[in-house]
Amino acid sequence: MKTSAPLAQGAVAAGKVAGQAVQAGKDGAAAQGSATSLVGLERAALMQVLAEIGVPERQRRMRAQQLWHWIYHRGARSFDEMTNISKALRAQLAEHFDIARPEVVQALKSVDGTRKWLLRLPADEHGLRHEVEMVFIPETDRGTLCISSQVGCTLNCSFCHTGTQRWVRNLTAAEIIGQVLLAKDDLGDWPALLEQHPNPPAAGRFITNIVFMGMGEPLYNPQNVFAACRILADGEGLALSRRRITVSTAGVVPQIPRLGEETGVMLAISLHATTNEVRDELVPLNRKYPLEALLEACRAYPGLSNAKRITFEYVMLRGVNDSDEDAQRLLKLLENIPAKVNLIPFNPWPGSRYECSDWERIERFAGIVNDGGLAAPIRTPRGRDILAACGQLKSESQRLRARERQALKRGPEDA
Ligand code: SAH
Repeated sequence: MKTSAPLAQGAVAAGKVAGQAVQAGKDGAAAQGSATSLVGLERAALMQVLAEIGVPERQRRMRAQQLWHWIYHRGARSFDEMTNISKALRAQLAEHFDIARPEVVQALKSVDGTRKWLLRLPADEHGLRHEVEMVFIPETDRGTLCISSQVGCTLNCSFCHTGTQRWVRNLTAAEIIGQVLLAKDDLGDWPALLEQHPNPPAAGRFITNIVFMGMGEPLYNPQNVFAACRILADGEGLALSRRRITVSTAGVVPQIPRLGEETGVMLAISLHATTNEVRDELVPLNRKYPLEALLEACRAYPGLSNAKRITFEYVMLRGVNDSDEDAQRLLKLLENIPAKVNLIPFNPWPGSRYECSDWERIERFAGIVNDGGLAAPIRTPRGRDILAACGQLKSESQRLRARERQALKRGPEDA
């Protein structure tokens, strides 16, 4: 499965360019960071900001409810659409708030149908507009949206490309949920649109699952990630089942019980090794929270059962973590934890020092784990041609920047 196709070959640019996703008018202006976003505010916070613009107390709950419905059920992109709210209040809302999406810098589609968006965020307090990536992976019976929780990452996992990039900042809840709203816009994944869809998805919606497996370490941004999880799972809005929302962590042990208690979503652990020695190398966070502590937190994760298991991600690295002994140790480590293992063939990136295990090795490893009674599917890499596969995120944007820098050096006429 090692790809030898030139990167980005066969990828179809969806023709979106910088600026296009920013709608003209109030929302567009707001995307530059001039207003408070209502996206990502939970109900209490929504009522609070309504109070701040003078909405009378007796109306606040109802108004919050209406806004919630428009934003998360109807997919409204402007206050003008909210026809059951008076014109005067709509104008007032538009003056103070926005419900803007992140700006699409580039949208790519892989030959296998995987889609990747490079997104530009509203300006932060320094006036900088950072970029993150998001990926959608369609399958016959489901569609998984992989979203980012931070710009860059602090963890420096040695096999992960995102880890080679500088950490910049946490995403706000607005920016986390904004990714989902934007993906739904682009896929036509809102109830009213799905009803008229000529070729509707079998599951009734395009995005059935959300995974926090894009850029960043979600449990280093717990407050915003937890709020985002609750909004995603809210039955009156986006209404995703908690069983179909997964937060993946490299092992920020103290936040693991909180994730379970405060959101009830599914947990995935980037395990990747069966000894502390190897894991210290691959996932340096292991030096702070070693395997014993990590697995203890997993064992205690609230709500676990055979129907609600923890996913352990295990990247297959030739000669590093792929021996028969590793497979045996893995079984031992996960004993007594309702678990499944996802075996991920390593996705190479420019300059990476590892290689993917041979296919036979991966199958043998999977065989040992399966025979030991633990499900261990091998995950087929998706979207490699557009650098959308696990651990490849952000490289495209880096390359773009290098090209942009070149163009700047040369000047616009010969760019
Ligand atoms: N920081 C969180 C969220 C990122 S999830 C975490 O570590 O879980 C991204 C997943 O892709 C992780 O399991 C990561 O270990 C895996 N990954 C990173 N680089 C990879 C690569 N080059 N090939 C395959 N998987 C990779």
